[in-house]
Amino acid sequence: MNTQEIKDVYDRYVIPNYTRNPILLIKGNGVDVWDAEGKRYLDLFSGWAVSLLGHCHPNVVAAIQKQAALLQHAPNIYYTEPQGLLAKHISERSFGGQSFFCNSGAEANEAAIKLARIHNSASGRFKIITFSDSFHGRTIATVTATAQPKYHKGFAPLVEGFSYVPFNDLEALKKEVDGGTCAIMLETIQGEGGINIAGKDFLQAVRKLCDEKGLLLILDEVQCGMGRTGKYFAYQHFGIEPDIMTLAKALGGGVAIGAMTAKKEIAKSLIPGSHASTFGGNPLACAAGVAVFETLEKEKLLDNVEKMGKYAQEQLKLLQKKYKIIREVRGVGLMIGIELNVSGADIIKKCIQAGLFLNCTHDTVIRFMPPLNVKKEHIDEGLSILESVISKT
Ligand SMILES: *Cc1c(COP(=O)(O)O)cnc(C)c1O
Repeated sequence: MNTQEIKDVYDRYVIPNYTRNPILLIKGNGVDVWDAEGKRYLDLFSGWAVSLLGHCHPNVVAAIQKQAALLQHAPNIYYTEPQGLLAKHISERSFGGQSFFCNSGAEANEAAIKLARIHNSASGRFKIITFSDSFHGRTIATVTATAQPKYHKGFAPLVEGFSYVPFNDLEALKKEVDGGTCAIMLETIQGEGGINIAGKDFLQAVRKLCDEKGLLLILDEVQCGMGRTGKYFAYQHFGIEPDIMTLAKALGGGVAIGAMTAKKEIAKSLIPGSHASTFGGNPLACAAGVAVFETLEKEKLLDNVEKMGKYAQEQLKLLQKKYKIIREVRGVGLMIGIELNVSGADIIKKCIQAGLFLNCTHDTVIRFMPPLNVKKEHIDEGLSILESVISKT
């Protein structure tokens, strides 16, 4: 089918809850994606940071193919090797916790919220504080946790027990904590909120506050985790450790998977029967996740993130000097935001037409999140397309 034919099928049969570009994608390889007309696009956005190793990395493809022919689904009343190994990879690279697997970021955060509540159920504490411009998902509880009114519109009543304070505002946070609070939840680097980086002092003070008041610190690493910032997990830049961490997006290298990992003494509150997911931790997705961790290590991709992140930020700062429309370039590793003085939607549209996938969030922030194995030449090519679009704006 061609682009128009598929569009017609969508118009009749697919719920129109997305604004879609009129492009029919067929295949991908590394940083490249092709549409039905054979046009090639350079993908420096990685579909919300999902395609961590680029499209169809051979190690991920091989792991999926092998597992697909062996065993695709096993109910969680049995054991499978991929689930155990993936939990081990996460634990050894983070804070030694235990994982629960699910299928998306929202589900991972939902699990974290439920764990925080059940762990504190004896004391009756259930309130969770989150931060302005956060994003935690679209289920009714995680959208409530998401402190952006635009995502709440039309879905009232929301879930009880959430409140919001300005990001990086310690005094406001301290004022909000009361005897009913059980957890504080945040992204160390906000993704959908516009690539906003938590202050190191702020995060360390939050950790201290949690310790003093007996609160759980939940870090949502769904977007910033999995090596994107040059460390396995973004919190590792800040000299703190969470009690609970959530992952999804890049964890499966392109396959749907989510995980919540928690310190063992907290995790034990999720007793059998308290929480579950039919597909969670299925061998197919977990085999892909194991291949992702092995590839990060084998190809020394954290080093590449540091090098390429530095290079991209340098080049973007040169662009900033040339074009007044760029207000600020900020980010860590390969999680970079380019804040404009104007709305970015039109620029992104033109970049896509010119063969470059980027994204705009929070109206004015262009997001640059290439695969972690990106090369200098890809960055150069992408930025030259971006410059040619910006220079005509
Ligand atoms: C994308 C995202 C989520 C939600 O993940 P889904 O897989 O879309 O449910 C949650 N938190 C953060 C930080 C995200 O970027």
